Amino acid sequence: MVVPLRSFHDFTRDELSALVASWNFSPVHAARLWSYVYNDGVRRWADMPEVPARLCGRLEAEISLALPPVTAEAHSTDGFTRKYLLALGDGRRIETVLMRFTGRVTACISSQAGCAMGCVFCATGQMGFARHLTPGEIVAQVMHIDGVLRKSDRDAPQAKSVRTSPPARHERLRNIVLMGMGEPLHNYEAVMRAVDILRDQNGPAIGAKHITLSTVGVIPGIVRLADEARPIQLAVSLHAATQAERAALVPVAQRWPLDALMDACRYYVGKQQRRIFFEWTLIAGRNDTTEQAHAVGRLLRGLQAQVNLIPLNPTRNYDGAPTDHGTARRFQEILTGYGLPSTVRQRRGIDIAAGCGQLATAR
Ligand code: SF4
Repeated sequence: MVVPLRSFHDFTRDELSALVASWNFSPVHAARLWSYVYNDGVRRWADMPEVPARLCGRLEAEISLALPPVTAEAHSTDGFTRKYLLALGDGRRIETVLMRFTGRVTACISSQAGCAMGCVFCATGQMGFARHLTPGEIVAQVMHIDGVLRKSDRDAPQAKSVRTSPPARHERLRNIVLMGMGEPLHNYEAVMRAVDILRDQNGPAIGAKHITLSTVGVIPGIVRLADEARPIQLAVSLHAATQAERAALVPVAQRWPLDALMDACRYYVGKQQRRIFFEWTLIAGRNDTTEQAHAVGRLLRGLQAQVNLIPLNPTRNYDGAPTDHGTARRFQEILTGYGLPSTVRQRRGIDIAAGCGQLATAR
């Protein structure tokens, strides 16, 4: 039986040092390996001249630098969004999205293949749960996006002519959102390990405040995140301000009801002294009425919070429609009346099925 190689991207820097030391090589080489991969984007052991050949040989035999291959790719016509379908080792497919809006480069990554949460309007929820991703599979998505950005940088002739030094990579990919396929807090250990690797100052060095984790309301995960010293941003997908309406859109609300969710959110804000983002998918005639806007205003009043209003991305198995711009603005004005900051997100990448799970479903 062929034993699959371990992924480099599963290792923290300390673990890599320990591994290299256990092979009787200096930890200095571990630091070099880390830098070659995460700072220079090198993807082959043979392309690391400062690493001893004997160590490269051992790595070649035991540790994989491979990234999941792209099996489908779609670019939005507005040029802002690129979506990739990546094939995992067991044949499962996950989605990773590169977004370039208003000078911000963001990777939207998946935490699971499929999802067990079953939100009725979500293509990933409609496909069901397959498995958790490993930390390496989560980090590898970011490295895939990093590779895309490096390649577009190399391919841009005008950038080459004006550049006097290598591009500063962290000025390129600065934001990560865990809003792709899956519920990140349902895969807590792997996600947090990936977050720690991505935050490593000698590696990807993504600032904690530039990493946003979106949950549908997994209360034990919110409480655990509140208790741990990992200052990433938290977004809670709310979608409804009453228990009955929320449970109809988000079935896990039956397990973790709205009242208990709000208690967990208040606990998080108190413990972390950081605001929570609340995501609200606007569905025409369903949760975009003035009554709903007042209900959410009352629910969140006084909490350190921001509401992100996102018109629905239509999916094949849900017949809801997105809220129009005027109604979204009126909803927002009501929230403002309650002192709640909010944004209305533009729907981007509709032509490439940018909502999570839509490209995977189409394939
Ligand atoms: S919206 Fe998120 S939590 Fe809900 S089913 Fe889709 S991927 Fe899962």
